[in-house]
Amino acid sequence: MQTVIMDRFDISRCILCPKKCGADRTKTSGICGGGNTVRAARSALHFGEEPCISGRCGSGTIFFSGCSLRCCFCQNHIISQENFGMELTVDKLSRCILDLQEKGAHNINFVTGTHYVPWIIEAVMKVKPKLDIPIIWNSSGYETIETLKMLEGIVDIYLPDFKYIYRDTARHYSQAEDYSEIAEAAIIEMYRQVGIPVINSNGLMEKGIIVRHLVLPGHRHESMAILKRLSEMIPKENFLLSLMGQYTPPESALPYKNLNRKLTTMEYQSVLRYAENMGFEGFSQDLSSAKASYTPSFNLEGLLNE
Ligand code: SF4
Repeated sequence: MQTVIMDRFDISRCILCPKKCGADRTKTSGICGGGNTVRAARSALHFGEEPCISGRCGSGTIFFSGCSLRCCFCQNHIISQENFGMELTVDKLSRCILDLQEKGAHNINFVTGTHYVPWIIEAVMKVKPKLDIPIIWNSSGYETIETLKMLEGIVDIYLPDFKYIYRDTARHYSQAEDYSEIAEAAIIEMYRQVGIPVINSNGLMEKGIIVRHLVLPGHRHESMAILKRLSEMIPKENFLLSLMGQYTPPESALPYKNLNRKLTTMEYQSVLRYAENMGFEGFSQDLSSAKASYTPSFNLEGLLNE
């Protein structure tokens, strides 16, 4: 399996993500910051996900360094754009996965792993016989169908964002004018792979898709348009919606009109009411969670010990 996956990936001309920058990753890094070795910044239990993901014992979360989307307001800027982290061999990544399971994680949660898909698959396949918890793919939603197909049968739960629907917004904040059409196709493919949500008797998710949307200041009408589009893409009862309002302006977003402030209660509540009226099932947030402390510390936890 590992050879087949790595053979399907031409590291000297990378087209793993929709940027398709064609970088020769044996010699340099792509737009995403990814080279020829996995980098990660944290491997630890995380309690900040939706209740059916974090549960009582936590989600076994591995945060990868780099990102192909590079949103100007990213709360994880230090890892996504400054590429903070350390290099991991595939064997080490496999050990991190098993360590998280041994620590009691309810699931293995790969955060922003798109640019490392072949390495992640190889690491999972090495430990698959010993793994008895679901695998989560937690991403920006900016994914190619070809790369997602590599994850079919490996990922149990998809947690994609659906960030923008207007090309101008996507270009302005993420330099990715094509975000909306790419994310739409990606979410439909994810749904095709994992189907309707399965929640076990302990309230933990075992399969399915949770689509996340962060309401941005000054963009509540775009949020409503996204919800309407989502309802046309997948039957509302066949996925869960996580409506987030914890936007905290990072320094990198201060030059951007609207993004230099927090979301108001009125803005969030109006989108939340819209979602409720449309009949979405899922999760919403208390705006008191809109603190920088919501972001985990990236201190190489879980990666340094052999
Ligand atoms: S994953 Fe990185 S290197 Fe590969 S195409 Fe995307 S930006 Fe380029």
